Amino acid sequence: MMSERLINLQNVKKVYKTRDKEVLAVSDVTMEVNDGDFVSLVGPSGCGKTTVLKILAGLHKADGGTVEIGGENIPFVPGRDIGMVFQQALLLKWRRILDNVLLPAEILGLPMKASRERALDLLEMVGLGGFANRYPYELSGGMQQRASIARALVHDPKLVLMDEPFGALDALTREKMNLEMLRIWAESKKTILFVTHSIPEAVLLGSHCAVLTAGPARMAEHFPIDLSYPRTLAMKTSEEFGVYSRRIYKLLDM
Ligand code: ADP
Ligand code: MG
Repeated sequence: MMSERLINLQNVKKVYKTRDKEVLAVSDVTMEVNDGDFVSLVGPSGCGKTTVLKILAGLHKADGGTVEIGGENIPFVPGRDIGMVFQQALLLKWRRILDNVLLPAEILGLPMKASRERALDLLEMVGLGGFANRYPYELSGGMQQRASIARALVHDPKLVLMDEPFGALDALTREKMNLEMLRIWAESKKTILFVTHSIPEAVLLGSHCAVLTAGPARMAEHFPIDLSYPRTLAMKTSEEFGVYSRRIYKLLDM
């Protein structure tokens, strides 16, 4: 079965207006994403990646072009159907892990009993089954980030936006989280937009890779990554993996 289009960005433009000047952050981004895709989004620092995610999340309005999310068979409620993960876990330190994960459900006013069950299942899925009643300070950085991924999924959003989620982790933890991410994507069947500065991470995780130009962003290329599943860390040494990596480096002029 063909999967349906979930995101359709056409010629999206964004200008930040500060008191004394205007900054063109995104000049012309066109991007189409199908339901269930895992899109790795790469581009030079400051090129407008976070801005694109904020536009998708409805936190900013585009100043040009069109933004469509959802489709005939995929109803999409802005806010309700989006989960976000940032570089820092941003857990509330006075709430237990379970109560942190439940926060979006509380804010959206979802039935708490069902949400609680779902949150516990998600904690199990991200490998934090025994940590529901712990406080954030009792968890390592990688575990806190996994809790924030559970939080982003608790209200069962259709789209998950991840902005350099593993940038603050050490290399080994990051590789473990990459495998974790592949498993979560396979199990949750979410559409994921994943911003990263790591080209190996982009290739390993993405069903697709979208490369933005140096700012103000335009779409350089958006292509499928046809590596087989399940993906493994050993694949990073394969010839095919190298071909995809080189293609991205070249697009980034590196
Ligand atoms: P990236 O995430 O790719 O590093 P951003 O989307 O954060 O890039 O930023 C793109 C450009 O917009 C940068 O030049 C940045 O300085 C500018 N910018 C981002 N947010 C604001 C803001 N709130 N006000 C003014 N300029 C901003
Ligand atoms: Mg950013």
